[in-house]
Amino acid sequence: MLLIPCPWCGNRDEVEFRYGGQAQVPYPVDPTSLDDAAWADYLFVRDNHCGSYAERWVHADGCRRWFDVVRDTATNEFAP
Ligand SMILES: [Zn+2]
Repeated sequence: MLLIPCPWCGNRDEVEFRYGGQAQVPYPVDPTSLDDAAWADYLFVRDNHCGSYAERWVHADGCRRWFDVVRDTATNEFAP
């Protein structure tokens, strides 16, 4: 069982959450200047490395709020 630290509810079971992907992906400065390939990269290509990873989660079965958290993808430990 994975306990995810919701900033408002505390540690809760992972079944209450939905994963939202990589966090802190900067929006393009001039999105109208992007070609289709660059726009697709922004929408769909994300980092996939082992170690600390900033993620978006929503507490779907709880307070229903979105938040960012840093998780170690190798150990599933969340940064405080
Ligand atoms: Zn919550």
